Amino acid sequence: MHFADLHLHTHFSDGTYSPEELVGHAQHYGLKLLSLTDHDTVEGCARMAIACGAAAIEFIPGSEFTAEVRGRELHLLGYFLDTANEKLLAEIAKFQAVRQNRIREMVARLNELGIPLEADVVFAIANCRSPGRPHVGRALVQTGHCATLDEAFERFLKKNRPAWVPKFKMSAVDAIELIHQAGGLAVMAHPGLNNSDDLIYQLAEAKLDGLECFHSKHSNATSEHYLKIAAELKLVVTGGSDCHGMNKGKPLIGSIKLPEIFVERMKRRLVERIGQSGLLFASKPTPPAHSPS
Ligand code: AMP
Ligand code: FE
Ligand code: FE
Ligand code: ZN
Repeated sequence: MHFADLHLHTHFSDGTYSPEELVGHAQHYGLKLLSLTDHDTVEGCARMAIACGAAAIEFIPGSEFTAEVRGRELHLLGYFLDTANEKLLAEIAKFQAVRQNRIREMVARLNELGIPLEADVVFAIANCRSPGRPHVGRALVQTGHCATLDEAFERFLKKNRPAWVPKFKMSAVDAIELIHQAGGLAVMAHPGLNNSDDLIYQLAEAKLDGLECFHSKHSNATSEHYLKIAAELKLVVTGGSDCHGMNKGKPLIGSIKLPEIFVERMKRRLVERIGQSGLLFASKPTPPAHSPS
């Protein structure tokens, strides 16, 4: 049986690995299907597709969008996205501008707290279009203001801490619509981290496709709970490690091995909704070259 990890981050957002490094780790764990779900970007997907192809791994282009329902934040994963979709790219550019402005605001807060950090230092560390709080945290560690990333979050960056700045988020209904118009499936990420069961019922009405029942931070009981809700609402089941590389100690890749049958169900749902063309953006691994006999 083949196994998938459908929730991964690279340095194109707040992960530390390159797409190639991530694929190397995936090979080590014997994974045969991967999706890249960097925050508010699809930029790493092209390189990831090439690296997967060379490693005989199937690749599904994806992204993780921050959204909200009446002030409550949730993350929506888009899968099988057309990464050249113009509306998708235009919206992504807006989210990235919001992220960059927010970094400047967080740095200004830190300056007011007497910490002489410059936004350009954070941008240099981030070196990507989707910078986030972890990059501010890394800057605080590298400049010696905090000993660890955890300390940076605890003291400054967590919600309601002194350097935290709320982020503009699109509505979850709009995010689902954005993913759908780019040919994708919309999946609620890590429901167990959100206290969001009521939102699952609401968003199912708004054509949410799936639920990330398997996640590295879900206990077995949590996964079971969401499997029941997915069955009840006829949502597809997905799973992924949410690996951010070396950000938080041990890399999480390998902690979730989603059986391929779940990916087949995702594909079936996509075909039901938009026809065979929906599968154009899942790249099959390049067949191994064999010498002519
Ligand atoms: P942002 O999108 O800028 O609000 O940052 C959110 C990201 O910060 C999440 O995707 C996680 O990768 C990371 N994060 C959240 N809490 C922590 C924490 N306590 N320590 C390290 N990273 C965290
Ligand atoms: Fe993240
Ligand atoms: Fe998330
Ligand atoms: Zn994630």
